[in-house]
Amino acid sequence: MIKITLPDGAIKEVAKDTTPLAIAKSISEGLARNVISAKFNDTVVEVYTPLTTDGTLTLYTWNNDEGKKAFWHSSSHVLAQALEELYPGIKLTIGPAIENGFYYDVDFGANVISEKDFPKIEAKALEIARGKHDFSMREVSKQEALDFYKKQGNEFKVELIENLTDGEITFCDHSSFTDLCRGGHIPNTGIIKAFKILSVAGAYWRGNENNPQLTRVYGISFPKQKDLKEYLELLEEAKKRDHRKLGKELGLFTFSQKVGQGLPLWLPKGAALRERLEDFLKRAQKKAGYEMVVTPHIGQKELYVTSGHYAKYGEDSFQPIKTPKEDEEFLLKPMNCPHHCEVYKNSPWSYKDLPIRYAEFGTVYRYEQSGELHGLTRVRGFTQDDAHIFCTPEQLDEEFKNVIDLVLYVFGSLGFENFTAQVSVRDLENPDKYIGNVDNWEKAEQAIISAAKEKGLDYVVESGEAAFYGPKLDFMVKDALGRQWQLGTIQVDYNLPERFDLTYKGSDNELHRPVMIHRAPFGSMERFIAILLEHTGGNFPLWLMPQQCIVLPVSEKHENYAQKVLNSLENHEIRALIDNRNETVGKKIREAELKKIPFMIIVGEQEEADNTISVRKHGGEDLGSISVKDFSDLIKKEINSTLKSF
Ligand SMILES: [Zn+2]
Ligand SMILES: [Zn+2]
Repeated sequence: MIKITLPDGAIKEVAKDTTPLAIAKSISEGLARNVISAKFNDTVVEVYTPLTTDGTLTLYTWNNDEGKKAFWHSSSHVLAQALEELYPGIKLTIGPAIENGFYYDVDFGANVISEKDFPKIEAKALEIARGKHDFSMREVSKQEALDFYKKQGNEFKVELIENLTDGEITFCDHSSFTDLCRGGHIPNTGIIKAFKILSVAGAYWRGNENNPQLTRVYGISFPKQKDLKEYLELLEEAKKRDHRKLGKELGLFTFSQKVGQGLPLWLPKGAALRERLEDFLKRAQKKAGYEMVVTPHIGQKELYVTSGHYAKYGEDSFQPIKTPKEDEEFLLKPMNCPHHCEVYKNSPWSYKDLPIRYAEFGTVYRYEQSGELHGLTRVRGFTQDDAHIFCTPEQLDEEFKNVIDLVLYVFGSLGFENFTAQVSVRDLENPDKYIGNVDNWEKAEQAIISAAKEKGLDYVVESGEAAFYGPKLDFMVKDALGRQWQLGTIQVDYNLPERFDLTYKGSDNELHRPVMIHRAPFGSMERFIAILLEHTGGNFPLWLMPQQCIVLPVSEKHENYAQKVLNSLENHEIRALIDNRNETVGKKIREAELKKIPFMIIVGEQEEADNTISVRKHGGEDLGSISVKDFSDLIKKEINSTLKSF
């Protein structure tokens, strides 16, 4: 008998060689029907793998990331078989599961694959899937494996096998197809019910441009046709919400080849949006005891040598700027932290003065290769909503909780309701990797965990994920399309206070090192606005909208009244504009819809006579005729429902 421990701590005693599937069956028939993969003592196994020792078993279904991975990994075998049957003589290389689906890199020889071939590949893959072929693993000797692929003339697999250790090589068979594989499959091909080729792209063998070019075939598969339909709808919606597209349509930002790649230019509406976001955070920060500072965009190279950034990033970033005569070297600021350390050093501090909290919307510059640039999410110059807190080790707990409150306030006000957190702590087995004393680390990690707990966060603790200079807390936000974004980091730092020799006088009259916290709820204004655009599709929360409503007179006759309405809206602090072009109201409404203006105010004969306005919401809902005062109350109510005071 062997002892199998389940994730909930329950222990099952079963006969040696019992499979994960049999264990699932002993738990429930429903689980047995849905289990598609398993992990045994940190190794991915198949549901048919006989278990031979005591150990911990986790069962996966389609609803786990690991289950999806097994599903997509197995699907890439099916794709490979389909391609081989359709294009005999091709050479298969590698085909992993990825975040959404899988791909296979293939040397197609003289064949060229394009979109018009997708349906026949999909049909072939589904035909194979319907055969309900079991995936089965077998060990092969290195020689056997080499012979197999040499006979096929596949130099890619031969190269892969040459780098493997004899005795650790396995093949996976299903149907008449065999592939080099480490394992982690679903039970059989039959549970793949929907199969879609998404795209093809060029890819170099092993990512090296000196190597032969291969064709990367991307695909995705699902256990239900309905899931594929939903996924394709989501892709369509994501395309519509692409921040690069919306940014152009809404007139928020642009790029100029002449100014340079990766350097966004904010247009008036975008600048107004940024300013509103900044003001919002500044107000909350002021209440939370932060003080604003301003520091320059460049700094002496020495500054970053002291901070350690030069040694770490110098080579791979913008190169030093030289002055014409004085023989000085400056760097574009890659981070605000060193500057803030020098601000802190401006005066001596006592423990009674701490914590000190310096905030700055600081623009930093980092070199990204042109191929890596992407809209506002990967740029070469961006503004961080940065702040650094200098506190005593005893204050860390409280400060951490305060920062979490601020981050949650930001998320709440901007409609991000779905998020999780990750606490990154030391790898206790490698203590030498970290600087700072063990007591302080212990204290900081406990402070973060207890703060996360107290604030009711849904968090996980990841060992070994901390930076060498301190533990941290990251927030992962799920957007309206279910995509994950990392937003908001709170990082403890023992390194910079040391490097900059920062001190404060303790109650014992001795000098001590403060602890530094780096935090940025938005992260960067550019990336945050990109995520917000994709999350909301451009329908920002009302308080943030550059224009909250537009007044549309039905004809020239009502222009004066429209102007009166506009003035009155402005008196109620509602951001409004007027469209008095000589166009039909229908056309004006359509254009206002495209600009995502939340409310359209239509004024004509009746409204003028009754001293009212007719209100139409973005999307079409008709709110009828009301007074400007009632409309203003309605707007205030909607704003207050998302934007609470901090
Ligand atoms: Zn495999
Ligand atoms: Zn920092």
